Amino acid sequence: MSMSETSLVRARNVHKAFGPLEVLKGIDLDVAPGEVVVILGPSGSGKSTFLRCINHLEAIDQGFIEVAGEQIGYRLKNGRLNKLSNRDIAVQRSKIGMVFQQFNLYPHMTALQNVIEAPIGVHGQNRNEAVRYAKELLNRVGLAEKMDAYPRQLSGGQQQRVAIARALAIRPRLMLFDEPTSALDPELVGEVLAAMRDLAKEGLTMIVVTHEIGFAKEAADRVVFMDGGVVVEEGPPAEVLTNPSHPRTRSFLSRFI
Ligand code: ADP
Ligand code: MG
Repeated sequence: MSMSETSLVRARNVHKAFGPLEVLKGIDLDVAPGEVVVILGPSGSGKSTFLRCINHLEAIDQGFIEVAGEQIGYRLKNGRLNKLSNRDIAVQRSKIGMVFQQFNLYPHMTALQNVIEAPIGVHGQNRNEAVRYAKELLNRVGLAEKMDAYPRQLSGGQQQRVAIARALAIRPRLMLFDEPTSALDPELVGEVLAAMRDLAKEGLTMIVVTHEIGFAKEAADRVVFMDGGVVVEEGPPAEVLTNPSHPRTRSFLSRFI
């Protein structure tokens, strides 16, 4: 079997610059179906940019990224790679859910309305089915009682769990989390990580950028350490977190002890 059949995500030699600033300098990463990969690394190392490239919020300069066997931003047609139209990019993006540090819920919509918005508005799903699934998802993240609450009536942790349910509502093959607990008060971090841990156990494929070393230890199948736009080291959490081989990983991790 070729790698493209066994990996859900395949990134090869990914380069991305903003003007003269080279942010990604040749990232290679494979993620297997059902795998949970945690990306660690100092601020400015390119973690968010890499996630944004996977989701086509940024176009890459060199290399390629495949998700579920399709190259992001392109389609193979008559033996040639053609750039996708914005409409086709939206279709491709609908296989990927993303959760950001800032939850960005619609303030004038209830939790339930936030979750059904994309399935109905973007994907043209039947309303009854969208509502049924949204309730199931809100239940899964522990918010069965808060379906009709507006974001301002919810804590940060509850809002972030609504944002997770909203990302799941499009039934993504892959979930990307970009520091999902960094904007939360410390006492609210645990409930969001618990919801993410449940998703990991259910077999969802996840790439998680976080500074929560405890989450990486417990929930990650693999930890990837990025620095300066490259993958410096990767491996099982027990290896990378307790016995890192690279000095840069060691120095980064020493801040958390
Ligand atoms: P991380 O998430 O690891 O902190 P980022 O991917 O956010 O790192 O940023 C990596 C570098 O790219 C930083 O120097 C940042 O300022 C720069 N950068 C990110 N996005 C842009 C952009 N749209 N335009 C210019 N520079 C950017
Ligand atoms: Mg970032």
